Amino acid sequence: MTPSSSAPNPLQAPLLSGRHILVTGVANRWSIAWAVVQSIARAGGRATMTYQGEAQRSTIQKMLEDLPEHHRAPLLLPLDVRNDAEISAVAETLKSEGLTLDGFVHSIAFAKREELDGAFLDTSRDGFLMAQEISAFSLVALSRAFASCMVPGSSIVAMTYLGSERIVPHYNVMGAAKAALEASVRYLAYDLGVSGIRVNAVSAGPIKTASGRAIKGFGDMQKTVAERAPLKHQELTAEEVADATVALLSPLLRAVTGEVLFVDLGYRQMGMV
Ligand code: NAD
Repeated sequence: MTPSSSAPNPLQAPLLSGRHILVTGVANRWSIAWAVVQSIARAGGRATMTYQGEAQRSTIQKMLEDLPEHHRAPLLLPLDVRNDAEISAVAETLKSEGLTLDGFVHSIAFAKREELDGAFLDTSRDGFLMAQEISAFSLVALSRAFASCMVPGSSIVAMTYLGSERIVPHYNVMGAAKAALEASVRYLAYDLGVSGIRVNAVSAGPIKTASGRAIKGFGDMQKTVAERAPLKHQELTAEEVADATVALLSPLLRAVTGEVLFVDLGYRQMGMV
């Protein structure tokens, strides 16, 4: 006998049909998070976005004109993850607007530029803690704040990078932050699994964004992947990372949690490079 379920098969409708996802980390058109917003729209869902500071708000407002109106979520909310009051206010606004979430995307990272150049040995206490707070602890803080807004079947996806588990020269303090982020993904997956909420990460290969370019030697990272990854025929795009994110957000991957999905043209699997 074939096992059956009363839930409709997710392949019968657009992957995110009717789903409302909160997307953090849109700074500009090059941001991976913006590609995620567009992929969510293509998959039939809607994205509420957050912004960090007024300049970002007006940039995003202009970018929103590119999205079909019925895929624009009504809200654009301020969020600096160092500010607990702003984190709570996002959850409160969603509730007061009568909105629930089917998940959220954590696409936030920050380290002082001087920590992404030179030796990890020289990392300052302040720089280490700042990278951890903004790039890793924020996933815990947002998951806790938004848990009560998320319905069963929701999915949280965080953006990470190979520098969490391998030595990538100059990635330094951010490698330590991404290691903490990935461990946080696993522990949150355990805590939130009971509520039917999944937590995963996408480990993206290098993509030219404002954050990427802040890392010394970023061009070499891109060149190495292009030359040595199994899928050599192309440069990795933000759209490819975003589509994989949508797969994790969608019910298609409803039995997957606590994972790191590598979207890097296969580069991580290489031995001798
Ligand atoms: P980006 O600069 O476009 O995005 C980084 C975002 O982090 C910005 O929107 C910024 O406002 C936000 N941010 C920083 N500090 C914040 C704070 N205190 N509060 C709220 N938001 C804050 O760059 P991106 O490359 O799109 O980065 C998005 C994510 O993808 C990051 O986690 C990054 O580490 C990860 N990632 C990027 C690459 C790459 O090659 N670009 C590869 C793997 C992973």
